[in-house]
Amino acid sequence: MADRLFDNLLADAKEFFREKFGCEPTVFAAAPGRVNLIGEHTDYNGGYVFPMAIERYTIIAATPTDSDKTTIWTKDCGNKMVPTVAGDFTLSADVAPKDSPDWASYVQGTISCCLRKGATLKSGFNAAIVSNVPLGGGLSSSASLEVSVATLIEELSGHKFEGSEKPLLCVDAEHEYAKMPCGIMDQFISALGQKDCAMLLDCKSEKPEMVPMSDPTVSVLITNSNVKHELTGSEYPERRAACKAVAEALGRKLLREVSMDELLASKDKILAMKNGEIVGETLFKRARHAVGEDVRTLKMKDALVAGDWATVGEQMYASHESLRDDYEVSCKEIDELVEIARSIGPDGGVIGSRITGGGFGGCTVTLVRTDKADEIAKKIAQEYKARVGKDATIFVTRPAQGARVL
Ligand code: ADP
Ligand code: MG
Repeated sequence: MADRLFDNLLADAKEFFREKFGCEPTVFAAAPGRVNLIGEHTDYNGGYVFPMAIERYTIIAATPTDSDKTTIWTKDCGNKMVPTVAGDFTLSADVAPKDSPDWASYVQGTISCCLRKGATLKSGFNAAIVSNVPLGGGLSSSASLEVSVATLIEELSGHKFEGSEKPLLCVDAEHEYAKMPCGIMDQFISALGQKDCAMLLDCKSEKPEMVPMSDPTVSVLITNSNVKHELTGSEYPERRAACKAVAEALGRKLLREVSMDELLASKDKILAMKNGEIVGETLFKRARHAVGEDVRTLKMKDALVAGDWATVGEQMYASHESLRDDYEVSCKEIDELVEIARSIGPDGGVIGSRITGGGFGGCTVTLVRTDKADEIAKKIAQEYKARVGKDATIFVTRPAQGARVL
């Protein structure tokens, strides 16, 4: 199933290239989207995240030309965010970022950042991009685009980036050219993910650790609530500021450096604090999430390696409750999805479920028994429709291979 999906996408990339350039592509690079299994809102606290690559990819097909000109087409993927459109790109390390970034900013940014890191291209190239990572769906189509472009540049230039160099240059591209102040998780997992593995990423040391997740009887269900609540824009900065204020009050830079015992021992001190409009009680809850989420993430990793699925499930539900009650980034629709999964329970094949991504809508991630995955997906979709009146979009995946040349 996953192989067929990939083969179809590759065929699509070839066809699209031929249609636009009238010749055969000769070089191909692919990079996946991702889902975070646990470790939410921990990245900016220097904590742990635990993502895996999913069987959804961006593929770029290319051929070098004998001129300086570089033209890249991308294809409308059925999502209205980006139409079928071409851009011309400059093979220079210091192209100025656009004031209003668009899709081409991700591509130009990645090209420029690759050149800064030592890649050199003898000529321009033509390329065509296709993707089956939903755009703007919280599965990181943006990182899969950046990493696919960087992987292509490696192949075209013969310059191989070492270790964390490639994901970090893609993060630079997203910050500087797309003007998105993202963390490092998406680019790391898309670039360095391995089949049948999740990745424990320490956002302080920026060191990834591959964690085997090879039991074929367990699969991952990604359920998009198809809900995105309007935000005022102050939600994320408010939470970051709360975490920073508590860390500083305890004499640290990052909440990552605070243990749960220490946090609990400082409860009265935090309750007496105020940070702008944010009262002490809220500050304490925000910090309790961030500190507790690191503990849960490490516990889940160990339980996953041990095949202790009951403990894995407990950590996922506890993460969800913490994001709902302490961090307050869930919403009614997402809570329904998690409750529906939970009510199906272990006997019905559900191991655990939680909100994934920034919050206020988006997706849930649910670990399920592979042989029951389709049945569970159907039940969740039906019950969600009944309770919320909306259609959920659901797909099943296993931990996929990260970026590669084809
Ligand atoms: P997410 O990464 O969660 O899917 P983002 O808003 O971070 O959502 O990134 C989506 C943006 O990335 C799109 O609006 C577009 O600019 C760019 N993008 C991602 N994939 C493609 C693609 N295949 N072709 C063109 N642009 C893309
Ligand atoms: Mg993104």
